[in-house]
Amino acid sequence: MAQRRIRQWYEAYNGNVYLSFSGGRDSTFLLWLVREIYPEVKAVFVDTGLEFPEIRAFVRTIPNVVWLKPKHTFKEIVQRWGYPVISKKVAMSFDRYRNTKSDVQKALRLAPGTNPVTGRHQTKGVIPKKYQYLLDAPFKISDYCCEALKKQPLRRYESKTGSKPFIGTMAEDSKPRQDEVIKNGCNAFEAKKPVSRPLSFFIEADIIEGLRRFNIAYSSIYDMGYDCTGCMLCMFGLQMEMKKGRNRFLMLKKTHPRIHRLALPAFGIDKVLEYQGIEYK
Ligand code: SF4
Repeated sequence: MAQRRIRQWYEAYNGNVYLSFSGGRDSTFLLWLVREIYPEVKAVFVDTGLEFPEIRAFVRTIPNVVWLKPKHTFKEIVQRWGYPVISKKVAMSFDRYRNTKSDVQKALRLAPGTNPVTGRHQTKGVIPKKYQYLLDAPFKISDYCCEALKKQPLRRYESKTGSKPFIGTMAEDSKPRQDEVIKNGCNAFEAKKPVSRPLSFFIEADIIEGLRRFNIAYSSIYDMGYDCTGCMLCMFGLQMEMKKGRNRFLMLKKTHPRIHRLALPAFGIDKVLEYQGIEYK
């Protein structure tokens, strides 16, 4: 079924398609599925500067990969716009709170209320009470990081080449991804930004089984105990992870002590974690 979606996408754009490649397990499996049928399809990897060394090393072993670089560094992003803390949704609310001049809009970020413009009761975009202590933090919080480090380089690539992406996301990843698939299907031809997600109906266990059954090589970072192999210093989702008894920064200390020792203070991550009372040493 996934390969049927891949064929439809490829044919619809006369082969002008690419695969958005993170070097993680899901996009590795998708790349294999795509290249089983169309071996010439390019993989595009955005090197944010925060990738695990094992991910970068693995990506180097894959043929026909385009490496993209963002225009800004992580350091510039966190100093100028703010740190990726809690979740994208909450970080966006902090950013809007900080940047609005309207007292009414500020109040609507702190508690639900009636929006004087729409006349409607507004609950969306309120910063949860448990995180409002961060309003006094001596650092900025924003959701801009992913936009600048990941999305913009891919958008530039797409507008330069006209190429349409395959991405290896699944409906089980999150509620927004599930909603997106229900709305537009695996091949979102009609979406504002057309995208193909041939793995939408897979679950993580299918990917692991697929890699094993077809003997597909993947990054050694998974053998070190990581499930999530995104940016090493990202703080999005950390609270949720800790509820499950994990802490990516303590893990980083064990698996990559040098990066832990040098990068956390270099980017001010140590201070942000300390402010939130999160253990990292
Ligand atoms: S995953 Fe986190 S650190 Fe990486 S680009 Fe997105 S917000 Fe920034």
